Amino acid sequence: AAGPIGHTVIPIVNKLQDIFAQLGSSSTIDLPQVAVVGSQSSGKSSVLEALVGRDFLPRGLDICTRRPLVLQLVHRPRRTDAAEGGEEWGEFLHLNGQKFFDFSEIRREIQAETEREAGGNKGVSDKQIRLKIFSPNVLNITLVDLPGITKVPVGDQPSDIEARIRTMILSYIKHKTCIILAVSPANADLANSDALQMARIADPDGSRTIGVITKLDIMDRGTDARNFLLGNVIPLRLGYVGIVNRSQQDINLNRSIKDALAFEENFFRKQPAYHGLSHCCGVPQLAKKLNQILVQHIKNVLPGLKSRINAQLVAVAKEHAAYGDVAESKAGMGVKLLNILTKYCEAFSSIVEGKNEELSTD
Ligand code: GDP
Ligand code: MG
Repeated sequence: AAGPIGHTVIPIVNKLQDIFAQLGSSSTIDLPQVAVVGSQSSGKSSVLEALVGRDFLPRGLDICTRRPLVLQLVHRPRRTDAAEGGEEWGEFLHLNGQKFFDFSEIRREIQAETEREAGGNKGVSDKQIRLKIFSPNVLNITLVDLPGITKVPVGDQPSDIEARIRTMILSYIKHKTCIILAVSPANADLANSDALQMARIADPDGSRTIGVITKLDIMDRGTDARNFLLGNVIPLRLGYVGIVNRSQQDINLNRSIKDALAFEENFFRKQPAYHGLSHCCGVPQLAKKLNQILVQHIKNVLPGLKSRINAQLVAVAKEHAAYGDVAESKAGMGVKLLNILTKYCEAFSSIVEGKNEELSTD
């Protein structure tokens, strides 16, 4: 299943990052992290899964996400000779890179590792779980799944659980490169949204907050989220996207992400309230919005990146000259790679400047 993130910028960004990796270079594109915030059971983990296009996160009605999960998506080129299902796998930092090809095993390991650190009785810990997903369908980007805000301590939770979770969330979303997905369920009043309240603290001018409204399918009969989505209730600079994720029953019945996306599309088509709002409805639109923000970000960091590469090119060329004509020397390789890199940077510039229609994000 293809994750809808970044079908457009993937090839170039990945080439760039591959070249950087070969150079062992520190000058890399600092792609922003994307963090989900919101109250418990608002649908944060479901939204992340839909974006990645695979089932692997613990979801449910109770507190499921109890430690921050830092999810690094790593692009791997598609291999024509790869065995079915052998192209996508996960590796946990705490398991020294053991490969998990079965995504339901990944979910079980997240649950087990959560319990190892935070106990079996709803405890919460700020110690990260770090998971890498290797796939031909993803852009190199880091997503962070965070515990939801809860108010009343249950199980082994301390009396100040709400304050602790808020501090934990802030430590992620305060960074200027963090894109905040502020997830609020449509069946609650937006003015009470913990997500929007936290996002406003970290990002007061709303330049990196995307509003995500989930559960459009289970609103009170006779109501709809049209005014939320249009920003008439709480305006947001980057706007809102409405989502229909899988229900608990769908999860219990093992309904696939593909089916869920088809259901979502059909839902928006059938509901007159959302007609004319296709630009802000559905997981694919959320992916597109994220993509545009990423491209904008890359555009901002590109000038600095170019000058770093140029400086490095000069340094490596000098080193190369000092070695004389030793073919295949490390410095010689460096010059070659940096020259390729410069070309990619130029190609990239023209894409983000919109000169190359074929590769633009629309
Ligand atoms: P989190 O606690 O914010 O990570 O929320 P989860 O992703 O674990 O979802 C909590 C529960 O809400 C699960 O049972 C999901 O199936 C359900 N859920 C999430 N989004 C939707 C939605 O858009 N529609 C419906 N019907 N259920 C949803
Ligand atoms: Mg969760």
